[in-house]
Formats: sequence, structure tokens, C-alpha cells
Amino acid sequence: MNIILLGPPGAGKGTQAQRLVERHGMRQLSTGDMLRAAVKAGTPTGLEAKAVMERGELVSDALVSALIGDELDAMGEQTGAIFDGYPRTAAQAETLDGILNARGRKLDHVIELSVDEEALVERITGRFTCASCGKGYHDTFEQPKVPGTCDKCGGTEFKRRPDDNAETVRTRLAEYRAKTAPILPIYEARGIVSKVDGMSPMDEVTAAIETILKA
Ligand code: ADP
Ligand code: ADP
Ligand code: ZN
Repeated sequence: MNIILLGPPGAGKGTQAQRLVERHGMRQLSTGDMLRAAVKAGTPTGLEAKAVMERGELVSDALVSALIGDELDAMGEQTGAIFDGYPRTAAQAETLDGILNARGRKLDHVIELSVDEEALVERITGRFTCASCGKGYHDTFEQPKVPGTCDKCGGTEFKRRPDDNAETVRTRLAEYRAKTAPILPIYEARGIVSKVDGMSPMDEVTAAIETILKA
């Protein structure tokens, strides 16, 4: 199974992808995570992406598509893929078709997480993750059960993203509206888009996605 989670920054793509990984042993392919790892490691990709990401703009199509191809090659052929934050432009959507075809994979579902834009700034400015395992949390909506300790790995260090501030979120949203939302019709024409209410509580969003995957 190969699925795309599509939605603006803060819609809940990463949260839901992590849950699908745990439940179904699928693999999360987050270009944002891959780019942050490249920035941290100081690779040429990271050096190229850093300032663009800090501004909230999109990095080049060629760069992210190369990351996705490499990641797919590194995982088992039978392992399902959850594309989180990719594709983000029409060009990336077209490239993804080729990438999947070349590997004998096909897209099963595009799940659109729809959210009220007003909610996104609060979601994003309250977001933090475990520094060891990457599990996502939120100041208001999902605190660790034991304060200061990660539910999943017991880690005690957490981090926040430099681009998770109100000003950059505006740019990221504008990028989403201008470049990413327009790719939905490509997938709608293929009849593979399902819309999920991303404003519901996390467990309800997960249940709605599970229903789609079973259909
Ligand atoms: P969010 O899930 O909050 O939207 P991501 O972690 O997916 O954020 O992405 C963070 C940043 O990384 C983006 O603002 C952009 O600069 C870059 N990025 C991630 N994925 C892509 C992509 N597919 N194409 C271009 N840029 C990307
Ligand atoms: P994305 O990957 O789409 O940028 P995340 O999954 O990182 O979004 O979610 C952004 C923030 O909002 C996180 O701190 C997460 O804990 C929180 N969040 C995710 N889904 C929900 C939800 N359904 N209700 C409330 N908060 C949520
Ligand atoms: Zn952890």
C-alpha cells in the first residue's frame, strides 16, 4: 500500500503517519524530516535547503524527489509507504508517478486532511518532538503522560523547529495554497482522494483514515 497524506502545515500529517507506522509497519517518508537530517549533518543538500526552510519556502523539486527515490530504494519492496509532505508541487506529483512506476508501486490513496487555517498557527507554535525518537507532541493537545518524559522511548529531551513560528507559518501556508493545493485535482481525476476532517480529535482522525485504508 502506498498513500499520500496531504494537508497544510500543522494539519496532522506527521502525527497520523507515526500512528500508521506503529499499527501497520508501514514506512513514513517525510521530506521535511529528511531535509532536517541533511541540515543537521551539513550535507550539500542540507546546505542548499537550510535558508529556504527557515524562510518557509519550498526547496527545489529535484532535491526532494532525489531524497524520496533513495529512501524507497533503501526500504523493503513489500513495505508500504506513507508520503508525508511530498509531493508539494505539480512537478513533484508527476515525478512521483515515475518514481513509483519504476519500482512497481502504485498509489492507493491520497488522504486530504482538511483544517481551518485559523487553527494552524496554534498547532504549529505549540508543536514539539522528542529529541531521541521524534515522537510528536503539543503544548495543549498532546502532552507526554509523565511530564518531561517521552511516552514512547522515555527520553527527556525535546526540541522545537526553528521554522515553527507565527511569521514563517504565514509563508508556509501561502506556499501550500499556491503550489500544493492545486495538485489535488490531479489525484481527484484518478478517483483516489478521500477527505478527512483534520479538526477532529487525533483518535477520530486515525479512525477515519483506517476506514479508508480498509475500503
Ligand atoms: P510541515 O509538515 O509542518 O508542513 P515539513 O516538515 O513537511 O513541514 O517541511 C518543512 C520545510 O521543509 C518546508 O517548509 C519546506 O521548506 C521543506 N520541504 C519539505 N518537504 C518539501 C517538499 N516536498 N518540497 C519542497 N520543500 C519541502
Ligand atoms: P503536520 O505534519 O501536518 O505539519 P503535525 O502532525 O506535526 O502536522 O501536527 C501539528 C501539531 O498539532 C502537533 O503538535 C500535533 O501534536 C498537533 N495535532 C495533530 N493532530 C491534531 C488534532 N487532530 N487535534 C489537535 N492537535 C493535533
Ligand atoms: Zn521519544
